[in-house]
Order: sequence, then structure tokens, then C-alpha cells
Amino acid sequence: MHSVRPFLLLDVDGPLNPYAAKPERRPAGYTTHRMRPEGWDDPRLRPLRVWLNPDHGPALLALPYDLVWATTWRHEANAWIAPRLGLPPLPVVDWPELHSAARDDGVHWKTRRLVEWAAGRAFAWVDDEIGDADRAFVAAHRSGPALLHRVDPRIGLLPGDFAALAAWARRAPG
Ligand SMILES: [Mg+2]
Repeated sequence: MHSVRPFLLLDVDGPLNPYAAKPERRPAGYTTHRMRPEGWDDPRLRPLRVWLNPDHGPALLALPYDLVWATTWRHEANAWIAPRLGLPPLPVVDWPELHSAARDDGVHWKTRRLVEWAAGRAFAWVDDEIGDADRAFVAAHRSGPALLHRVDPRIGLLPGDFAALAAWARRAPG
């Protein structure tokens, strides 16, 4: 076991909200929520439809990680997502600029910031937009162990994902 637990850097849309599932086929175990986070309070906008699985909160808390939001929801994840999953307020990675222009090297706009934020502490990053360029970037720039775990946004987190995360935390050098 680690003396210091790794961070679990957690995206919302994709892993927790399988937004890419067919609208008429909400995945089993999920409930539908309508949300108006900051910036979405214009009555001309329809509320955001968010699917959440209430089993995910306890499953995340059972993992040997320190949970951190790494999402465009930023601090709004603590207002809108955490309570519905039974999670306490979590630390939030803030982004100096959201969705900065795509980079020629194909590295996701979150990747550099997450490596910097973890500051050498072991981390797992769970996101639906992880690609090969991100794996290469993290391998070249991290100073601690890192797991980049992609989740299919049509499906969301499954028991196998939780098992893989738990296994990595047990194995990763502290
Ligand atoms: Mg996402």
C-alpha cells in the first residue's frame, strides 16, 4: 500500500455521464437529471440532460485513491454531480483556459495541466478523450507513476474499470 494515495483525476462527461449512448437507450443503472450549471441558466437553453449511476459514488469512494475533479464542470461538479452520487465535495483541477485550440501534436488540452497539477504524485486519469498522444506526453513528462484510463462515453464506467483502477493502485510504486 502507498503511504500517500494516488490521485484519481476524474472526468464527468463520458465516465460518469455516458452522454454518447443513444438517447432512447439510457444505460442500465442510470437515472436522468436535468441540470442548469453556471452559464446554462439562460431560459432559452434547455437544461443539460445528465445520466448518473448512483452506484458510482460508493464505488469511487471504495477505491484507494484521493478523488479529484478533472472536468469542464470544474467547481460545478461539486454542486451538481457529487451530491447525486453521494460523494463529498472534492478538490477541483481548474483550467487556465477551457478547450484551448487543438494542438498540432494531438495532445489533449487537459493533459499538460494534469501532469503539472499532480506534481510528481502518482495519478490515474479517467477520461473518454484520452489518446495515444496523451500517453506519449505523460510517459515523457511525468515524474511519478501514471495510468491513463480511457472510458467509452457510450457506456460509462463499468465494474471492470473499477477493478483495473484498484489493481493499478495496488501495483504502482508509491
Ligand atoms: Mg469527457
